[in-house]
Amino acid sequence: MQYDCRKCPGYCCSYPLIALDKRDVERLARYHKLSFEAARRAFTREAHGRKYAMKRKRDRYYGAICRFFDTTKRCCTIYEARPSVCRSFPGKGRCGYYDFLSFERRAQEDPEFVALTDNR
Ligand code: SF4
Ligand code: SF4
Repeated sequence: MQYDCRKCPGYCCSYPLIALDKRDVERLARYHKLSFEAARRAFTREAHGRKYAMKRKRDRYYGAICRFFDTTKRCCTIYEARPSVCRSFPGKGRCGYYDFLSFERRAQEDPEFVALTDNR
């Protein structure tokens, strides 16, 4: 594995579309002890042509980010109940953003630097 999500400020959680399927919404409902309908209303919206997309909130670095992201600790607050897309991303090899982040942190000699793109 050539990336370390624990050292990353969570760029992939700021994607404009975090697409969910019905099973993801069911998992969120179970985790929060809510009905499917209550979870759908609380956590999802229709967007980008998808019936269920994760709601977002403001973020100081990326403009907006997943509603379940802890913007202070920079991590997921529902790790065990996260949607399938979050489980599989970005696969076993590399993360393009992490490569960019690591390069900029080295180049700027700042281990805390947050590399930005316009993802709003
Ligand atoms: S952008 Fe890459 S390194 Fe950062 S949290 Fe997502 S998968 Fe991990
Ligand atoms: S559910 Fe968790 S891992 Fe998935 S986008 Fe939201 S904060 Fe990130």
